[in-house]
Amino acid sequence: MMCSFAVHFYIRIIPDLDSIKEILQEKKMKASSARLLLLEKLQPAQAHYTAEELFQSLKPVLPGLSLATIYKNLEDLQQAGIVRMVTLPNQVRQFEWERGDHLHLVEGSKITDLEDDALFSKIKKLISQTLGSEFEVENIDVQVFGKKKK
Ligand SMILES: [Zn+2]
Repeated sequence: MMCSFAVHFYIRIIPDLDSIKEILQEKKMKASSARLLLLEKLQPAQAHYTAEELFQSLKPVLPGLSLATIYKNLEDLQQAGIVRMVTLPNQVRQFEWERGDHLHLVEGSKITDLEDDALFSKIKKLISQTLGSEFEVENIDVQVFGKKKK
């Protein structure tokens, strides 16, 4: 089985279902039904979905919804820093709530979030020591590949 680990550095935003409308308001984004339902779907930890999965899940609730609308909203939410796109080799990109620093354990199409603040501190320290304080980290994506020993 192939495993890969992705490490991202982002601004930490704690997802809170009750404050979704407030977050959209802060970002000056309209709280449309599609956006609210998308964010509600993406809110729980470990929630990673493709645009198609989100579309299939929300279509029964919003009959007029199109896949293009899903993509447009995901793009807007991504630009606003609320949603993160997860890109893995040879896989359809997936989307999740922007939850800050964490690792992705990938088994097939299943993604599991792993958190280790000490590890991220160590990586940030290493980057700072290597590249100096004038280098600003915007995004780090590390992928490690391996398989189970026989
Ligand atoms: Zn994740």
